[in-house]
Amino acid sequence: MQTDYLVVGSGLSALVFGALMAKAGRSVRVLEAHEHAGGFGHTFTMAQQYHFNAQLHYVWDCGEGHTVNQVLKKLGLEDTVTFERYDPNGFDHMRMPGYALDIPADSETLIERLTTLFATPQIAQFIHEVQTVSRGLKFLTPPRRPGHLLKNLPAALTALKYYRCTLQDVFDQFSLPLAVQTLLALQWPDFLLPPNQLSFYAWVILFTGYQEGAFYPTQHFEHVISALVDVIKAEGGEVITETEVIEFFVEGKRVTGVKAMNLSTHETREFFAEDVICNLDPQRAAKMIGLEKFSSTVQRQLAYDYSASNFVAYCVVKDLDLQEYGFGPWNTFHTEDVDLNRAFTRMYEHQDYSQPSFAITTPTLLTQASRDCPADCQIIEFLTVANYDYFRKLHDRDRAAYRRKKAEILETLLDVVEDYYVPNLREHMVFKITGSPTTNERFCGCPEGNSYGSSLTPKNMGLGRLTADTSLQHFYFCNASSGYPGFAPTFWTGARLYQQLSGETLSTA
Ligand SMILES: Cc1cc2nc3c(=O)[nH]c(=O)nc-3n(C[C@H](O)[C@H](O)[C@H](O)COP(=O)(O)OP(=O)(O)OC[C@H]3O[C@@H](n4cnc5c(N)ncnc54)[C@H](O)[C@@H]3O)c2cc1C
Repeated sequence: MQTDYLVVGSGLSALVFGALMAKAGRSVRVLEAHEHAGGFGHTFTMAQQYHFNAQLHYVWDCGEGHTVNQVLKKLGLEDTVTFERYDPNGFDHMRMPGYALDIPADSETLIERLTTLFATPQIAQFIHEVQTVSRGLKFLTPPRRPGHLLKNLPAALTALKYYRCTLQDVFDQFSLPLAVQTLLALQWPDFLLPPNQLSFYAWVILFTGYQEGAFYPTQHFEHVISALVDVIKAEGGEVITETEVIEFFVEGKRVTGVKAMNLSTHETREFFAEDVICNLDPQRAAKMIGLEKFSSTVQRQLAYDYSASNFVAYCVVKDLDLQEYGFGPWNTFHTEDVDLNRAFTRMYEHQDYSQPSFAITTPTLLTQASRDCPADCQIIEFLTVANYDYFRKLHDRDRAAYRRKKAEILETLLDVVEDYYVPNLREHMVFKITGSPTTNERFCGCPEGNSYGSSLTPKNMGLGRLTADTSLQHFYFCNASSGYPGFAPTFWTGARLYQQLSGETLSTA
C-alpha cells in the first residue's frame, strides 16, 4: 500500500512529525529497527521491575504555551502528557571539592549566590550578557519575524558577536575565575563537550532554557513515547518495530521507498510512499543512498563530526531514601577536577576516570504520580563521557576487558558518591547495569555511539548546519542533526517539518 509519509526511525522528532501528520488525516507508517520505539528516548525494563529511560533525564520548553505544550495541545495530549517542574530554587546542584552552588531559575539570585562565593563584578556582567544573548538568539532562530527582529536588534547584535565562540572564549573575555567557570559549566554532560569545545550558543540556549523551567514527565518518558505512538495508531497509522531499513529506492532524484528487514525473521519487505522522512542519522542514510546524489551544499552540510559518546550506569537502591542524602527534584553534577577541560580530556582521550566529572540523576524522586521501580526501591543513574573508538576496539578484541573497564568506571564513580553523598550506597544497591558507546550504538542506532548527533561545536551550530532539505525529491531529514538535539528541540524539529510539508502554521517555534 502506498503511504503518504514513510518515516524511517522512531526517535522523538520522527514520532512528533508522524503524530502531527496522522492527526491531520495523512497516512503514516514508521519503521523502527529496535524493539522499542523512541530512539534515545526509549525505556527498557530490567528484572521485570526496574524501568530505565535510555538517555533522557530532564527537559525544558514544556511550560504552558511553550513548544512542547503547543505540540501536545495540537495532538490533544496536553492533559495526558504532563510535566513536573524541578526545584526552581536549584534545579542543577553543582558540586566540587570546596564549593557548592545550586542553580536557580532567577538570574539575579544566581548572581547573588555566586558573588557571595567570589566577590567579582564580572559575574553579574557575564550573567547579564547571557540573558541578552538568549533573547537575541530567540529572534535570530527561524522562523525569523522581521518586525520582532528589528525591535530586538540590540539583543540580536549582541548574540551575533559570539557566532564563532566557544563557552571558554566567553569565560575568558569576562575573565571569570576558574571555579566560577566550573560551577556554571558543570552541566557539561548535557552536551558531552567541555567548555573549550562547546558552542556558546548551545550552552546559552540550554542554560537559560532550564532556568525558564526544568521538567520531568509526570508518568515518566515511556508515557510520552507511547502517547505519541498511540496517536499515530489511533489515526490509522503504523509503527513497525524490529524492522531495519537496509536500502533506499531512488529513481533519478526522487526517493520512492525503502527495503527493510524484519530483524526476527530476516524477511525483507519493500515499502513505498509519497514522501520518505529520514530519522536515522543523515550521514548514514546519505552513505546508503550514495553521497554523490546529493547537492554539493547538502554534501558540505553532511560533513559534520559526531558528538562524543557516553557511559551511563543505571542503578537501583533498596531500603534507602536518597532524599535523606541531598537528592531530590534536581540533578547533581560533580567534578573532582576544577578544570573541566582537563577533566574531559583525561576521561575522553586517556580513559583515566580517577578524578571523574559526572552527572547524577534520581528519576524516582522527580514525580510522585507513578513509579519506575518497586515501592522500597529508588533509581539512581550516573552519566559521563566515553570514547567510542576505545570501547569499540576493547569490545571486539576482549569482551572480559571491556566488562572490566565498565566496572572500573562505575566503581570509581561509586567511590566518589560514597565519599561525598551516601556513605553506604553499595550496601543498598540491588541492581546495576552499565551502558557504553557500543551499547548506545546497538540500542539507539547512533553511529559511533554519538550522543547528540553532530557535535555541539561552534562550527556545527553555525549557518552551515544541516536542515530538513536533502536536495533529493520527496525525501526529508528529521532528526537531531538536521534540527537540534534534546527533547524540546526534537519536538521543535518534528513540528517544523510538519509545518513545512503541511503548510499549516503552529503557534510554536
Ligand atoms: C546520554 C544522553 C543524555 C541525554 N539527555 C537528555 C536530556 O536530559 N534532556 C534532553 O532534552 N535530551 C537529552 N538527550 C538528547 C535526546 O535524547 C536526543 O537528542 C533525542 O532523543 C534525539 O531524537 P532523534 O529524533 O534525533 O532520534 P534518535 O533518538 O536518534 O532516533 C533515531 C531512531 O532511528 C532508528 N534507526 C536507526 N537506523 C535505522 C534503520 N536503518 N532502520 C530503522 N530504524 C533505524 C534508531 O533505532 C532510533 O530509534 C540525551 C542524549 C544522550 C545520548
